Amino acid sequence: MSETLRERALRLDAEDPLAKLREKFALDDETVYLDGNSLGALPAHVPARMADVITREWGQLRIRSWDESGWWTAPERIGDRIAPLVGAAAGQIVVGDSTSVNVFKAVVGAARLSADDRDEILVDATTFPTDGYIAESAARLTGHRMVVLDPADIPDAVGPRTAAALVNHVDYRTGRLQDLPGITAALRAAGALAVWDLCHSAGALPVGLDEHGVDLAVGCTYKYLNGGPGSPAYLYVAERHQAAFDSPLPGWNSHADPFAMTPGYRAADGALRGRVGTPDILSMLALESALDVWDGVDIEDVRAKSLALTDFFLECVREHVPAGRVESLTPGAHAERGSQVALRCAEAPAVMAELIARGVVGDLRRPDVLRFGFTPLYVGFADAERAARALADVLAEVPGDLLSS
Ligand SMILES: *Cc1c(COP(=O)(O)O)cnc(C)c1O
Repeated sequence: MSETLRERALRLDAEDPLAKLREKFALDDETVYLDGNSLGALPAHVPARMADVITREWGQLRIRSWDESGWWTAPERIGDRIAPLVGAAAGQIVVGDSTSVNVFKAVVGAARLSADDRDEILVDATTFPTDGYIAESAARLTGHRMVVLDPADIPDAVGPRTAAALVNHVDYRTGRLQDLPGITAALRAAGALAVWDLCHSAGALPVGLDEHGVDLAVGCTYKYLNGGPGSPAYLYVAERHQAAFDSPLPGWNSHADPFAMTPGYRAADGALRGRVGTPDILSMLALESALDVWDGVDIEDVRAKSLALTDFFLECVREHVPAGRVESLTPGAHAERGSQVALRCAEAPAVMAELIARGVVGDLRRPDVLRFGFTPLYVGFADAERAARALADVLAEVPGDLLSS
């Protein structure tokens, strides 16, 4: 007798070299958590570390902790811990502020790095909205024209007037992985800068910032990096650009000698030029602690498991869910897929509410997309099979089909 999907799931979990990482997270066995691409799960050791930060570093050492507990240098130190996960050598990433704020620094910074006669900034038409809003403002402030286009069309659109392009590495809605090496190469060949947003790729797949010659990048840390709600984002400025990088937010933390408190600004060298004001230390140290789960983890293994999980989930959906009820928006080709599966479903709001009530937590992107994020550090194959079965059960109770939408 051939193996059932459930049996195969249990076998794949037993063979999975990353399976034991799940124990490092505060997760219960009743819930299948498929929303780690929106808010990563809590690593189990973080509460004890935060209790120490609050009671000892803040409560007892107080002001001394800026120095003795390493608070002041946390933005660069934590940047160096994120660096290997996104393929960057040390000294190019600084942590702090939200992704939105870092998009602003990166786009204005890119515009200022480019030649005066380049008056266009290209922006990904499928971008997460905040990037587009901020880029439009950055373009207006720097006297550039914003051109919105599909990432696949960038290589043909880039030309002598292009200053830079801002692209999302993975489309937050469909899970499509963009061609970072190819688009970056096309931009650079035309003398333009490549600015990438890694929110939905960092921690899920290899990025290769240095290898592919990316100029600037930003990303958040509360999705696949599990830093906690509102944990600070990061900014990557390639070493070759650091000396000329002119931050639009030159706060005192990025001054060459911040405690001299001089009236004139003089930018610090290196990645910390991307700092602004006093860092949000509690969130930052929660992130630093959360990054411990990556010790000894190879991002290539994470990618292999991510693809196997999303393949398997799609297979389970095809097997369990009647034809026509859902349609995958996520590319089938591995080279074009991030770490989530997006299913279009006419009854998506009611279906997701019922799935969550049954302990299968994905999310909804209005009006009609069911999103299931697969975080390889703590999601297994049995979870994927259970989620597909729950989806089929719910759809059997919610009438309708795709044609009714
Ligand atoms: C999640 C996400 C953001 C979030 O920005 P915040 O400033 O942290 O709210 C930005 N861009 C992309 C592509 C995202 O996926």
